[in-house]
Amino acid sequence: MNSPALATDQTSPLNLDRFPRVAMCHQPTAIEAMPRLSAHLGGPELYIKRDDCTGLATGGNKTRKLEFLVGDALAKGADVLVTQGAVQSNHVRQTAAAAAKFGLKCHALLERRVPGTDESYETTGNVFLDRMFGTTIEFRPAGLDMNAEAKAATQKLKEAGHSPYFIPGGGSNEIGALGYAVCAEEIHTQSTDFDWIVLATGSTGTQAGLVSGLHALGNTTPVLGVSVRQPEDIQIKAVHALGQSTADKLGAPALPVKKVLVDDNYVGEGYGIPASSTLEALALAATWEGLLLDPVYSAKGFAGLVGGVRGGKFTEGEKVLFIHTGGSAALFAYEQQLAAVM
Ligand SMILES: *Cc1c(COP(=O)(O)O)cnc(C)c1O
Repeated sequence: MNSPALATDQTSPLNLDRFPRVAMCHQPTAIEAMPRLSAHLGGPELYIKRDDCTGLATGGNKTRKLEFLVGDALAKGADVLVTQGAVQSNHVRQTAAAAAKFGLKCHALLERRVPGTDESYETTGNVFLDRMFGTTIEFRPAGLDMNAEAKAATQKLKEAGHSPYFIPGGGSNEIGALGYAVCAEEIHTQSTDFDWIVLATGSTGTQAGLVSGLHALGNTTPVLGVSVRQPEDIQIKAVHALGQSTADKLGAPALPVKKVLVDDNYVGEGYGIPASSTLEALALAATWEGLLLDPVYSAKGFAGLVGGVRGGKFTEGEKVLFIHTGGSAALFAYEQQLAAVM
């Protein structure tokens, strides 16, 4: 534990300050009511936890993960962070900013994962911000094992005399997931009144950290991950695997697989392609609550919230907490598509 800016959270019930960590996140993030949207939809009381306001390069869920990942990188003497994501990755943008903040270099591999995008998709939104933070970028075609590609790039940097630190896509390993064990502690302290917690799930670290953290705290609030990409069965297995290894790291009891709930009804045609329910969710959040979602992640998650109210999964008298994981920087890469329907 020799990094220069360690967070000292002496009140952590999960004793999370035993892990290397830097302080970056504006936390605890606020929980706000959404009274106008709740009245409009009818049924449960809807709340939102503002993890879009975590304070690193327009915010988002990767800030919490990066507190532990950068802490670990500094403890290991790294001088460059290597990571990967889709072209409009929020994770890469936030990793790039964290690297700049701690005097590290950043090298990113961007997968051309989304079909049918225009030229500006690779220069605007998050890519524009990546470059602003001085990150070096390599593009890759869709369908490769991107973590293997990034590991190979890490090895190359090592051979060239650097001290690279590999961060998997989305910052999703048991180190990054600790950031969402912190979020679990926050929610547990802020209110035990929620009947449901709902969020978007992609590379799994957010849901895995949240579920393992709540489990370690003995908090039984169900957490529903709304998939942005993969079918339910595959996503449940992936979240559970990382949730279990995170629970192990926390010294918590085994994580029952039934604690991992996923809904894949809002994916649409695939990752990064907004479905009609995604566009409706963007518009509902904007016009009823003045909230900015993003078309890749948080609006698909929010569509799951809205669909759950309409379908009777969440009912009158219940309180439902949506975790806003951020992503609005990607809006500008979707301006043409969105302007056509807003
Ligand atoms: C990465 C991301 C998610 C998904 O989190 P995972 O830990 O990858 O499952 C959700 N929302 C936004 C805005 C993201 O950038």
